[in-house]
Amino acid sequence: MYKKFSKPSSDLSKESDDWLLKDDEILFRTNEDIKNLSYLANRETCLLCGSTLEGTESFMHRSVDYICCRNCNHIQSVQILASEAEFDQIYPPLNKKDWEKRRDRIYLPKLEWIEESLKISMPKLSLKDLGWLDLGSGGGYFLGALKSKEYKDIKGIEENSHLISRSNEFFQEEIVFGLDKSEFYLNHSETNIVTNWFVLEHLNDPWIILNNLKNKPKGTLFAFSVPVFGFGTILEQVSEEYAARSLDGLVHRQIFTQQSIDYMLNKMNYKKVSDWTFGQDSLDLKRLILKKINKRSFSEGMLLEDIQNKIGSIVDPIQEVLDRADFSDAKHILSIKD
Ligand SMILES: [Zn+2]
Repeated sequence: MYKKFSKPSSDLSKESDDWLLKDDEILFRTNEDIKNLSYLANRETCLLCGSTLEGTESFMHRSVDYICCRNCNHIQSVQILASEAEFDQIYPPLNKKDWEKRRDRIYLPKLEWIEESLKISMPKLSLKDLGWLDLGSGGGYFLGALKSKEYKDIKGIEENSHLISRSNEFFQEEIVFGLDKSEFYLNHSETNIVTNWFVLEHLNDPWIILNNLKNKPKGTLFAFSVPVFGFGTILEQVSEEYAARSLDGLVHRQIFTQQSIDYMLNKMNYKKVSDWTFGQDSLDLKRLILKKINKRSFSEGMLLEDIQNKIGSIVDPIQEVLDRADFSDAKHILSIKD
């Protein structure tokens, strides 16, 4: 299996710096929203493997109770949410230039990693002939990356109607469809690579998607990324003074572990082709430190600048250590139906 570690933090530092400026506001809003959530009931069975959760000890993370399934190690909130957060409120529209920058910094590297992985593991495969389906295409960034490299057979599925119309308008053709078309395109014989970036953790029943993938023919490719319980999650546990990004209790009510990813792939009968481990844990650490010192005595001047520069210069080396130790907060995996 092809293994890759880390990614320069400069690709994500803009998001992290913007977040730092709004951290107080995000923290306040998240805490308020969590107080107002309504719940259906306590979870009786694991949402990933279906095992009974009775008797499993829970732990509290930022005022929300979680449970780690004893069978598959998937971490999930004890209570089932009555409704999900609205995504178009979380991701406001960007202008064309910023949209392209985000596509190139965050989504193009995902495509290049798939290309790189398949070139090594399946050198005879013609990528341009594949039929791509991006599940949960959001703002259309990954589809945009595919288009920028002249892939032709591409489609997206998105739940949010504003994001669907925004994407189709942007691409000037109808390539993004609503959830009602999800099963049709998933099961379509011409769909042979499915991508899914940070979506599974939002689904209360991931098997709605995964069962369709399970029934696809041998050789079908599935590339996805999920958040993983890692250093960043533990840091959120240690200090509640900054906004949580990993397990925030609002949009992230579940989180994968190495074991629960393996369980899922095994159940679907998919094998790992490639694995890219890179997290944002050290950017969170930087955000926590800068937020705390900004509020104390070092509000300006050379000392603050010096601290900012020094912390900035160790973000990548720290993250690389965490990535290589399999202790970072996210995984990108490319798998193939056996
Ligand atoms: Zn389980």
